[in-house]
Amino acid sequence: MRSPRSLLVDRLLERGEVVVCVDDLSTGRRANIDHLAAMASFRFVEGDITAPGLDELLAGLPAALGRDRFDTIVHLASPASPPAYLAHPIETLAVGSTGTRQLLDLAHRDGARFLLASTSEVYGDPLEHPQSEEYHGNVNPVGPRSCYDEAKRFAEALTVAYARVHGLETRIARIFNTYGPRMRPDDGRVVTNFIHQALAGTPLSIYGDGSQTRSFCHVDDEVAGLIALLDGDEPGPVNIGNPHEVTVREFAEQVIALTGSSSTIELHDLPEDDPKVRRPDITLARARLGWEPHIELADGLRDTIAAFRDDR
Ligand code: UDP
Repeated sequence: MRSPRSLLVDRLLERGEVVVCVDDLSTGRRANIDHLAAMASFRFVEGDITAPGLDELLAGLPAALGRDRFDTIVHLASPASPPAYLAHPIETLAVGSTGTRQLLDLAHRDGARFLLASTSEVYGDPLEHPQSEEYHGNVNPVGPRSCYDEAKRFAEALTVAYARVHGLETRIARIFNTYGPRMRPDDGRVVTNFIHQALAGTPLSIYGDGSQTRSFCHVDDEVAGLIALLDGDEPGPVNIGNPHEVTVREFAEQVIALTGSSSTIELHDLPEDDPKVRRPDITLARARLGWEPHIELADGLRDTIAAFRDDR
């Protein structure tokens, strides 16, 4: 389990829900759910949502937990880190297509509400800034990132098709860059790379010249946004992210300052199709979900750095 998945499970269990969690642990960490193992209201199933027979894998679980059906399905499966999805492009496309379809069929069978975790990557390398939900994006359909971007775009299309054809109650969250404790040290994204490099005293690896921007949302805020979407009546898509935008270079300098590291900065090639800017317009989330992020980047990073220090 990787954040924000395991954190969402924690929050749902805390408020008394019964939760079945399916994960193939391909990018997740079992350790993130170890503390839940003894809970009577929680079951973990190691499985792949793209494999045939998902309904058989899950058969009997609601009954074992005192329920007659699944009343909510949250689809958070997929690698999200560029190195992870670039290493497994076909599996990533399968999760967005076959995996999404199997979960939608399950939701349809059980009359469950369905939430899809989509992504800011549906906007590609955006030509509009900041990105509102009305922007249709600038995605290269055959570039290296297309396996993730198009998988999520297809998953959104399939979700709204099930809503239109079957009247399924659906929610779509577009998650922007998220960070926090419980990320895998070898996740490969900028937050984990920079913090680990700073703690090790090795150079921080900036791709390109570091002028590209990202907007980082702490996982506690992100999960609160997902729950607000799940509970509310706005189908979305809704951007769930933090509009505080920084350049990658500013971000590197902030990590160095907060860790008190003596690391320097080293420039590397910019990956193909790396988005030059990214910042969510969260007007819709504020208005329709009553949600906005509260955790400042410096505070969230302190918390994340402390967790990474413990992990080391
Ligand atoms: N990046 C970087 N150094 C790293 C990892 C990433 O400069 O060690 C850059 C990357 O090129 C991108 C940004 O940081 O511009 C965010 O990358 P990440 O992989 O975290 O996620 P993305 O937003 O691209 O999905």
